[in-house]
Order: sequence, then C-alpha cells, then structure tokens
Amino acid sequence: MTIPTTQAVGDGYLFIDGKFQPADSQETVQDINPATEQPICEVAWAGTSDLDRAVQAARRAFDMGPWPSMPAKERGRLLLRIADGIETAGEELALLETLDVGKPITFTRGFDVRAAAEIFRYYAGMVEQLEGAARPAGARSLQYTRREPLGVVGAITPFNFPLNLAVNKIAPALAAGNTIVHKPAEQTPLTALALARVMAEAGLPEGVHNVVTGGGATVGAALVEHPGIDKISFTGSTATGKRLIAAAAGTLKKVTVELGGKGANIVFGDADIEPAVQAAFQAGFFNTGQFCMSGSRLLVHRSVHDQVVDALTGVLGAIPVGDPLDESTVLGPLAHRQQLDKVVEYVGIGRAEGATVAFGGERGHDGPGYFHQPTLFTGAHPQMRIAQEEIFGPVVTVLPFDTDEEAVEIANGTPYGLAAGLHTRDVRRAHTVAARLQAGIVWVNTWAAFENSTSFGGYKSSGYGRELGPEGIEEYLQYKTVYVNVD
Ligand code: NAD
Repeated sequence: MTIPTTQAVGDGYLFIDGKFQPADSQETVQDINPATEQPICEVAWAGTSDLDRAVQAARRAFDMGPWPSMPAKERGRLLLRIADGIETAGEELALLETLDVGKPITFTRGFDVRAAAEIFRYYAGMVEQLEGAARPAGARSLQYTRREPLGVVGAITPFNFPLNLAVNKIAPALAAGNTIVHKPAEQTPLTALALARVMAEAGLPEGVHNVVTGGGATVGAALVEHPGIDKISFTGSTATGKRLIAAAAGTLKKVTVELGGKGANIVFGDADIEPAVQAAFQAGFFNTGQFCMSGSRLLVHRSVHDQVVDALTGVLGAIPVGDPLDESTVLGPLAHRQQLDKVVEYVGIGRAEGATVAFGGERGHDGPGYFHQPTLFTGAHPQMRIAQEEIFGPVVTVLPFDTDEEAVEIANGTPYGLAAGLHTRDVRRAHTVAARLQAGIVWVNTWAAFENSTSFGGYKSSGYGRELGPEGIEEYLQYKTVYVNVD
C-alpha cells in the first residue's frame, strides 16, 4: 500500500496564509502509525512565532479580506465545492486517517470522509438562511438585527476523530463568515493538513483557514491566550478544557468546550436483547472505545444481566481485531502509546478494585502496534474508578440494577453528561427515563445514530456549547441590533 505523502502532508509543513510552509525553527517530529509503531512521515512542530503568523493571516483575512462580506450565495457555493473536493480526495483522506489513528479503513471511508463532505453540504445550505429580524420600533424608526461572524476562531481538536471533529468546527465557522486557525492533536495531524489543501484547491481565499501543528501546552495554550483570536472552539478532555477556560478568561474570549464522557447505556428487562447487545457493542467499542460518546457503562436489569453479558462476550469473541488497512477489521489499535498505557493501567485498577474480567483484559497481541483486547468488567460497583472515570479505550463496565429509579440514579451518578442510551419496548418508560437522564444526547433502542442535524454537546463536566445541527452555527455568530431614526 502506498502511503500518500502529498506535499505538506508528508513534508513537515504548516498551512499559513494559503501556503504550505515550514516552521520558523524548521523543527519536525515523526508521526507514528499506531498499528505498526513505524513512522508515517515528518510533521512540522510549530512554535509561538508560527502561531503568531497564522493568527495574523487569519486576522487580515477577516479584517480586510473578501471572506466575511462575500455574498451568501457565493460562500455557500464555495462550501459545496469543498464538500466535492473532500469526496474527490476521499481515498487519500481515508487512508491518512487510518494510518494516523488506526481506525479501520472501512470506517474511515464509510463514515469519516462521507460525514465530512455531508457536514460541509449541510452548512452550505444554511449560509443563505442566516437572517436577522425586523423588530418593533417607534413610528419613524426602524429596528433590525444582523447576525455577524465573531472574527477569528481558534479550533483545537483531539486525536480520536481528527477529520470529523475539525469539520464540525470549520464548516459552521466558515458558513458564518469567520476565519480560522486550527491546531489539530499532535498525535493525528495528517487529515487536517490534507483538508487544508482540499479547501485551498476549492478556492478558499488565502488566510481564511490556517493549520498549525504542534504541542498543546505550547502552541495550543498560546492560541487560547492570543489577543488576535475572538473565539476558542475546543474538543478534548475535561482536564484540558478546565485549564483552557481559565486561560481564555484573560482576553475574555468566547469559548465552547466539548469534553469527556462516561456514557450510561441502560438495558431494561423488557428490551429486545439481540439489538440491545449489538448497540452495546457499538456503544462500548466503536473506534476502539476512543469515542467521547461511548457507552462505557452498561447498566443491565438484573433479570437479563447474565443473558446480556453472555451475548456480549459472544460478540466480542467474534470480532476481527487487527490491521486497520484490512477491510475485514472491526477493531484497530489505540491511537497512540499513552492511550494504550492508560487502558492497561485502568484494567489493572478494575482488577484491584475487585471487578471481574468477563472478557479480554490483556494487550492485543505480541506483535507491534498499540492493540488491546476488548474488555468487559462485571461484578463492578457504580463508585469504582472504572465506573466513574473516562478510560477512552475498549473497556466496558457492566452495572446491574433492579428499578428504573436506581438505573437513573446510577446513570446520572458521574460528573459527566455527554451521551446516554436506553433499551426498552415500553414507550412510556423510554420517554420518562430519557427526560430524566443528564446528557446532551439520549439514544433510544440504538446508539450513535447521527444526522447532520443532530446537535450534541455536554451537560455538567462534559462541557458547554453545541456542535452540528442549527445550534452548531450559533456558536460562531453574534447578534447586532441596529436602531435607525428615519425622521
Ligand atoms: P486533550 O485534552 O489531551 O487534547 C485535545 C487538544 O487540546 C489537543 O489538540 C491538544 O494538543 C490540545 N491541548 C492540550 N493542552 C492544551 C492547553 N493547555 N491549551 C490548549 N490546547 C491544549 O484530549 P485528547 O486526549 O486529544 O482527546 C481525548 C479527549 O477528548 C477525551 O476526554 C474525549 O472524551 C474528548 N472528546 C470529546 C468530544 C466531544 O464532542 N465532547 C469528542 C471527542 C473527544
């Protein structure tokens, strides 16, 4: 398989002001394939002077460039061209994402790339809908509102869905007329650079979108504090999110934070077991469990506990784990070494806490790659660390319950509130429990079903702000009232 090292993606370049260019320091780092532990290519390691150049470029593009005042129709057309460009470059983007993150090629082709194109189309359709309103005013007055972009958006993204989480920010931010400086995760920067090329080829004006690859504590932190940035849109861990919110306060930036989760997936005694188990597998193990919306806590009514555990261990025993470039693979490696170490540590914590490993529990295999077996804990208690803390790996903790009340209490009993799900045939129970779950999204008899219009975001320590859907674009707009005396 040829590794796509098109200019910039393989040459250690940043993307600033419409051009691929090296870091001022010329410094690069190796980007590692998690399935083989071999280097894929070199990536530029930016410093704060590079970040400054990127912010200045985005600032010029916003303050003096054609982008914010481009007629809505034209801006929409450009976003549609970007969507087409993503599809044209689809095979390259899928391959880069698979090499960089370790996710199966069938998923990157079938989900990551397709969804990225569709999200651009969705927001392209919204550009012409950004209407203001005429408001009541005096007899010889006129009052109206305008919806205006915020300015320069700093987008910071994590390692698990590099292309999609970037597009969730870039597409609505551009649709609203903002310019962008994007800092992707240091472990998985490749599709951010490839996307920059696709967007430039589609005709996006210089400086509107810039990519700076580098460290979180250095370039990421500098982006958050930079006075030239108007808004930070962050997706990542709750710990980093808290630091970032405090750091952004100094310049009073607007901030949205999409943070961690510890989703509860509830199987009631009256659920259809087979589909509930399939959903539990998706909830717990999709993307090797590196999914902020994972259902890493599986709450099961005691009457069906053993049946569900047996069926799920059966599914886990049959799934193909291995080379993410192999089209039959369903579970790839963890995306980077520290993530594997974290999973191994938490499995040890679960054992030490007294939970039982019902399936898995070990590193994937003896060869190279950051593989870990899908792992199921039973005999756990809701207060154990494996049931409270985000592991972000292929580890699910089963928690039995006896009543609906107890299920809701356990489900809401962590600091997080991103995603939840429930399985039942009782319509009344479905809606009653859904209303009581503290989560930004609740799935009933499914998990991780998404449309472009499905907005999501956190309750509690899972953050604030929303991505996707009509709410997603509101995060990149501000309202101005104009009151006119026409006397
Ligand atoms: P992370 O917080 O370690 O890093 C995320 C990004 O922040 C990276 O680009 C990193 O370089 C940058 N960063 C680190 N320190 C920074 C600082 N001080 N200032 C500015 N930027 C900084 O997260 P991760 O390990 O890459 O991703 C996993 C986490 O992301 C999990 O907690 C997961 O739940 C969460 N996540 C949330 C969502 C959501 O939509 N809520 C989606 C995906 C992932």
